[in-house]
Amino acid sequence: MTEIAEPVTERGAEASTAVVPHWIGGARVEGASGRRGKVFNPATGEVAREVDFASAEEVDAAVAAARAAFPAWRSTSLSKRTEIMFRIRNLVEAHRGDLAAHLTAEHGKVPSDAVGEIARGLENLEFATGVPHLMKGAYSEQVSTGVDVYMIRQPLGVVAGITPFNFPAMVPMWMFANAIATGNTFVLKPSEKDPSASIYMAELLAEAGLPAGVFNVVNGDKVAVDRILDHPDVAAVSFVGSTPIARYIYETGTKHGKRVQALGGAKNHMVVLPDADIEMAADAAVSAAYGSAGERCMAVATVVAVGAVADPLVDAISKRLPKINVGPGSDPNAEMGPLVTKQHRDKVASYLDLAKIQGATVVADGRDHPLYKDSDGFFLGASLIDDVGPGMECYQDEIFGPVLTVTRVETYDDALKLVNDNQYGNGTAIFTRDGGAARQYQFDVNVGMVGINVPIPVPVAYYSFGGWKGSLFGDLHMYGPEGIQFYTRGKVVTSRWPDPGTSKVDLGFPRTR
Ligand code: NAD
Repeated sequence: MTEIAEPVTERGAEASTAVVPHWIGGARVEGASGRRGKVFNPATGEVAREVDFASAEEVDAAVAAARAAFPAWRSTSLSKRTEIMFRIRNLVEAHRGDLAAHLTAEHGKVPSDAVGEIARGLENLEFATGVPHLMKGAYSEQVSTGVDVYMIRQPLGVVAGITPFNFPAMVPMWMFANAIATGNTFVLKPSEKDPSASIYMAELLAEAGLPAGVFNVVNGDKVAVDRILDHPDVAAVSFVGSTPIARYIYETGTKHGKRVQALGGAKNHMVVLPDADIEMAADAAVSAAYGSAGERCMAVATVVAVGAVADPLVDAISKRLPKINVGPGSDPNAEMGPLVTKQHRDKVASYLDLAKIQGATVVADGRDHPLYKDSDGFFLGASLIDDVGPGMECYQDEIFGPVLTVTRVETYDDALKLVNDNQYGNGTAIFTRDGGAARQYQFDVNVGMVGINVPIPVPVAYYSFGGWKGSLFGDLHMYGPEGIQFYTRGKVVTSRWPDPGTSKVDLGFPRTR
């Protein structure tokens, strides 16, 4: 039986050191590659710290630590693993203020949004505490005379997670909660733009009594990712990020024999039917388009206004925009923070000029906001573009910022065709008072997550999260029951305990009747 360390009462130094290191074998490990990246404070535009970029050899060290920890961890009893998952959940909950502060400092999201992200991550830790139930297999007695068949679920070994900048705490929790609860050991490669949260979480996991090597963090860029993808000891890779990289991760990982789930980008349509409550639809569109400065894969990116709803809806949305309080996370009244980098902010803003050139109507231009002009932070005000056609770049591309577009169509069928023709299929919503129309939409639409009068339909942790089309490569969605399936494989045992006296040679095909 494995010895599990009891939780320690004090954590090590805060993660916000000058250089964010790796976490390998239960300890901080300074980078040795000589390569580092800059981590900005998006609200001030200053370089807040640096982050070590791992070499292939440093990834090898993390995988070796995870591999060494695997035999003991997978042998640890389900009740002991459950106890540790409970402690992890409680520590993350107790320290969510500190964790949220890391998100605000490096991602830029305002504190209420950062705490909300952690709350959704905690749901995954809570789900994973049910691992004894989730790992149950199946048993069939007497499939043939004296023969029983049963299926057991076993962990894969060393598994890896590669995560995006926009949810530096929640998306790692989508992955590692189920991965380690089911008995795997884990190597996380977080976004290089906001890496401190993952080192902070690693410390909490160690404090909870997770044995050294079960959870490791390698910081870095493509060098680290590529080594994860071709490392022979990594059995599976979970990825969340943009579609081109998701496709690359899926193709490269599977080529090397790994199980891969790779979630990509999105362009989420909110269809508003003529009978919808305009004020409710406008509130929902504004909340879902501009929350987290639009840097959410489930953000509403485009409103599809059906028939006569368009004019009053655009009017109701535009009236709400000047009331959005844009500011740094240090301002308690701020509702929308800066974007993650200057480069990203400028790319987002460039769609406004492009839209004008291509014939759309810019109703609100976020570059008019004083913080865009006067601050060194990466701010952009809320922007709204009307009369957007499906051929325009502001419609085709995932903008991933506080820019909402409106496409006007005549009928429900036009709306449905627009959504189904789009290359992405992550989330969608329909706003209507007609239950029959909503049910028809749920039946017709080629999108993985659907909201009915709910603008951001992120599934609760006991369902699974995933889009269709260019929003997901692989077979299994992330977290929830499909997460358990992803991180385990079934083994089917056929068993007989015969009376030795009945044994004989029989070369015929095994029969059950
Ligand atoms: P990204 O694809 O640029 O980066 C994601 C991860 O891949 C990071 O860890 C990064 O270091 C790594 N990476 C980047 N370029 C790479 C390369 N060339 N080779 C190997 N690895 C590379 O994504 P991002 O900008 O961090 O995050 C935003 C994107 O993530 C958006 O497209 C958003 O829609 C998507 N996203 C999707 C979901 C979802 O559930 N579908 C959730 C959150 C974010």
